[in-house]
Amino acid sequence: MRKKLRIGIMGGTFDPIHYGHLVTAEEALVQFNLDKVVFMPTGNPVRKTHRKVTPAEHRYLMTVIATASNPDFEVSRMEVDRPGPTYTVDTMLALRQELGPDADLYFITGADAVWEILTWKDSEALAGVCSFIAATRPGYDLSRFSRDDAERMRVEFMEVPALAISSTDIRRRVAERRPIRYLLPEAVAAYVRKNGLYASEA
Ligand code: ATP
Ligand code: MG
Repeated sequence: MRKKLRIGIMGGTFDPIHYGHLVTAEEALVQFNLDKVVFMPTGNPVRKTHRKVTPAEHRYLMTVIATASNPDFEVSRMEVDRPGPTYTVDTMLALRQELGPDADLYFITGADAVWEILTWKDSEALAGVCSFIAATRPGYDLSRFSRDDAERMRVEFMEVPALAISSTDIRRRVAERRPIRYLLPEAVAAYVRKNGLYASEA
């Protein structure tokens, strides 16, 4: 019998992608014995309407640049190319359709985001299609997750080295002309500069 493929899906806005995302994906790859991690930049995010999100093509390209040297990382255009708002459940259903039943899908996310997922559109449908790998920082308080919820949604927790890096902080730093070096790959920082991204973020 052929071995079941184990595929991690790292969804995100990636505006811009940074070492927090990359370390988390690598850690999931190893800890959960995944065959690969597919980065899935959002197209039109439904949850981030309070700020202007950088055009998807820029975010997609930055994700490609950041992951290019890792043979176990891929980037999917699925959400970028889909018109209209993005729902993770639609993406996961489409992936499931594409890959058939012979693949296990793991949606990789920060532990705080998993909490939100429980309230997402069609979270029940999502639970039938994939399981979740939730990244926590050492010392993170898991008591807010009930065991029932974790079991129902098939959430597994994974500790990653504490990385207080966020895209929000990077955008703010660029706008304020503060350094972003060592927070994200050098080539992504160069892409940000070349295209004048985040320069006018409030
Ligand atoms: P923003 O500040 O704009 O919200 P972000 O840094 O949180 O951006 P996202 O693209 O929103 O990045 O996150 C994509 C995924 O990566 C989410 O599941 C999020 O929980 C996770 N993530 C973000 N930053 C980190 C980090 N430093 N360590 C581990 N996981 C992270
Ligand atoms: Mg976020």
